[in-house]
Amino acid sequence: MENVSQSTIKGTGVVAGVAYAEAVWVRPRPELPTAGELIDEEKRDGEYDRFLEAVDVVASRLEQRAAGAEGQAAEVLGATAGMVKDRGWHKAVRKSIRSGRPAEYATASATEKFVTLFEAAGGVMAERTTDLKDVRDRVIAQLRGEQEPGLPMVSGEAVLLADDLAPADTATLDTAHIKALVTELGGPTSHTAIIARQLDIPCIVAVGADLRNIESGTLLFVDGSVGTVSLGANRAESLKAVEEYREKAARVAQWRGPAQTKDGHRVQLLANVADGNAARIASDSQAEGIGLYRTELSFLSASEEPTVDEQARIYAKVFNAFPESKVVVRTLDAGSDKPISYATLSSEENPALGVRGLRIARDNESLLTRQLDAIAQAAADRGDDVPTWVMAPMVATAVEAKWFAGLCRERGLTAGAMIEVPAAALMADTIMPHLDFVSIGTNDLTQYTMAADRLSPQLAYLTDPWQPAVLRLIQHTCVVGSDNNVPVGVCGEAAADPLLACVLTGLGVNSLSAASTAVAGVGAQISELTLEQCQKLAEAAINAEGPSEARTAALDLLEEFKA
Ligand code: PEP
Ligand code: MG
Repeated sequence: MENVSQSTIKGTGVVAGVAYAEAVWVRPRPELPTAGELIDEEKRDGEYDRFLEAVDVVASRLEQRAAGAEGQAAEVLGATAGMVKDRGWHKAVRKSIRSGRPAEYATASATEKFVTLFEAAGGVMAERTTDLKDVRDRVIAQLRGEQEPGLPMVSGEAVLLADDLAPADTATLDTAHIKALVTELGGPTSHTAIIARQLDIPCIVAVGADLRNIESGTLLFVDGSVGTVSLGANRAESLKAVEEYREKAARVAQWRGPAQTKDGHRVQLLANVADGNAARIASDSQAEGIGLYRTELSFLSASEEPTVDEQARIYAKVFNAFPESKVVVRTLDAGSDKPISYATLSSEENPALGVRGLRIARDNESLLTRQLDAIAQAAADRGDDVPTWVMAPMVATAVEAKWFAGLCRERGLTAGAMIEVPAAALMADTIMPHLDFVSIGTNDLTQYTMAADRLSPQLAYLTDPWQPAVLRLIQHTCVVGSDNNVPVGVCGEAAADPLLACVLTGLGVNSLSAASTAVAGVGAQISELTLEQCQKLAEAAINAEGPSEARTAALDLLEEFKA
């Protein structure tokens, strides 16, 4: 490709695929107002009415978009509209207007108070500040008669550039026009990355400030598998690469499971789900079952623990989507970035290293046993030969594994553990004899191995699942699994990357679980290589100096095998 070295910027590729199109920036956020002059007392009621009118327009626009959307997109838009209509926020704005502030400034300052509160609360609350600021910006733009910030209307094909995307924007991305997403901030597990993965469009995050030098209208070649954005790329070569990618996508769409390598080595491909709805969607994919049901996601907004019967009904919806197939249920992974009010300690200095996952049950065993009772109750109608597996998150020691396995077996459940704490990988030989299976959570295993917060955009270069240090821990776990006859799965985001999935297969992983949209891509890629070729990729990756080198080494070998 021409001029690539001078004109390529790099970020973290989170969804593979290539695109060649003009850059379009998400419409800028409005400048935040300064306090300005106090307004006359008799005009203040009218000023508040002006605010309410703007709120009405913004909320009904979002509601209209929600009505035209489906599933998660409709939910996100509906929730954003709900925030615009929030009484508590209106009250704070009214107070500010009554003290003489113009509506624009009152909107900004009232929002700031909530942002500060949410940031102090941390975790999921802190993540909602993006939504709050999004609502603020929409209302301020409306008050000023400016265009609504956020997604522009795009008629041709475009690569969407943004600092980060608000949920309301990502929820309604039109993939007929938007061919790739590139953001300055964000990380592999950020909202933008998750939505891009669902929409299956190439996505690069954490590019950094260099992105701002690209103007709307610039032609870009984006390669999501290596995380590069190239300016001035050769047009013919770029279009050829896009065409090849399309052909590959068509092959993926044709792919039918069950997954196996070219020489017949079976790898079980499963789906990660959050609820019954996602499980139904997964049942239409090529996934053979569920490899990770994140139960905590059903309870994020619950103020009280649901009863055993209520929980059983929720779990049954997931089982019903796969009545004859394997379902792996993970017990509550509350805490850290997923606080649950009835299960999580209210204040911890360092929640990612705190009382999360299985650790919560140490002082509250009955919370866990009630959940296991509910899982057993929901699974009671499943046939004896239909695998219903249960695993605990954040297991770090053999004592924890033994304790958890005992509680599962008392209820006739097959017991496993996530391997996501480096200690568990290193001590796998002491942990596995207590268990029926393990599943490696590469998101947390990477976070804890690299000592890098998985939510930090600045550390995305460290929280890369291609980190050879992480791959070595996976390799060790696979060797111990095979010695102990304990199946080893991977259910972190690593399993969604087709090339990395081949590396994992080469390392000896028996099953891979990923977002259902990723399953066919992974299966198709595995089918193109022999087990021995996967092993060669694995060897190259674990011996590389860093994640980029590991990825490049694997890609080079792939080209060699094709030739
Ligand atoms: C992981 O850590 O890789 C994992 C699958 O669990 P979660 O992303 O829910 O922490
Ligand atoms: Mg985890």
